[in-house]
Amino acid sequence: MKIYADNAATTKLDAEAFEAMKPWLLDEYANASQSYSFSRKPKVALNQARELIAACINAESQEIFFTSGGTESDNWAIKSSALANLNERPNIITSAIEHKAVLNSCAAMKNLGCSVTILPVDNFGTVNPADLQEKIFLQTKIISVMLANNEVGTIQPIKTLADIAHASGKIFHTDAVQAVGHIPVDVKLLGADMLSASAHKFNGPKGIGFLYVRDGLKLLPYIDGGGQEFSRRAGTENIASIVGMAVALKKNIDALDKNREHVKNLEQLFMRELERNHIPHTRNGSEHSLPGLISLSFDGLDGEAIFHRLDLMGISISTGSACDSKKIQVSHVLKALHLSESRAKGTIRISLGKDNTSEDVHAIVAALKKCFRD
Ligand code: PLP
Repeated sequence: MKIYADNAATTKLDAEAFEAMKPWLLDEYANASQSYSFSRKPKVALNQARELIAACINAESQEIFFTSGGTESDNWAIKSSALANLNERPNIITSAIEHKAVLNSCAAMKNLGCSVTILPVDNFGTVNPADLQEKIFLQTKIISVMLANNEVGTIQPIKTLADIAHASGKIFHTDAVQAVGHIPVDVKLLGADMLSASAHKFNGPKGIGFLYVRDGLKLLPYIDGGGQEFSRRAGTENIASIVGMAVALKKNIDALDKNREHVKNLEQLFMRELERNHIPHTRNGSEHSLPGLISLSFDGLDGEAIFHRLDLMGISISTGSACDSKKIQVSHVLKALHLSESRAKGTIRISLGKDNTSEDVHAIVAALKKCFRD
């Protein structure tokens, strides 16, 4: 048995996306930045992919900058915004439940003399806009709050937060890595100045992503070198991956409602089956959450132990804690949601995707039941 229920970690590459990538690796391998005719096709493919991706999030094509993924996009947005103002001791505001790509970018900037303000979240993982309002001050240069959380799925009130940022003339970035391709993402409706995305979270290839940068926003390059990406992100363009990302995103956006409904139905079935099988649990996160992302705590059980038991049965899920060689570290997200240490340690994350089936759900519940029985 092999059941993959860790779609928040990564997703399977879409077969059509893979096919679309091949020609750019095998036959049409020219460097898109050269001026001979062999480079014409990759150049056209690059532009078309940029347009396709921009249309998927209601952006303009010149607002899309290709990167190596979510981590780079987050690093770029935060570090370049802070570095542009380094002599003014800039302040960065972010939330306690961000991905490490954001939190550690902020920490790196703190080491260079910036101040960092971490907004708390409530028990459901939601940032209170009033907290942002209160924390903004003259020195604040960039505010970064994620659209959807990768551990508990909570969706933030991004439009309200962006409006607050803009009312004080501040730049607002959102890490939308878990959201793009899974819920509607419209940069104009969200009002974010910058938005990070990563292809492998929406059935595209790994190692490619993009940063949306609103037209007119000045952002220093993060990777210096040649003049690619409008001289803002150097490096020979990864045409195959960019094309694969565009095909995967377009496909997911075209089937967004269908996929969401399918995954939501599986999620509801899963929760019903837990009840029906009398498996005691507490669900973490908010009602307003990513479809299919289920964070569950089992009182008195160890999430690591459940993870290993399920792994032995061929089921891939995640835990709410990371085990290093000496101690179990509770996730910063669960801590921020005020979970007790024992509840956090008994937490697992199941993230269902469009390829999962009701049979998968029944098999996962049966496996969990075994963890309780034995
Ligand atoms: N941001 C969030 C919310 C994520 O979930 C992830 C990946 O897990 C990242 C950023 C990093 O993205 P990538 O794996 O493309 O570097």
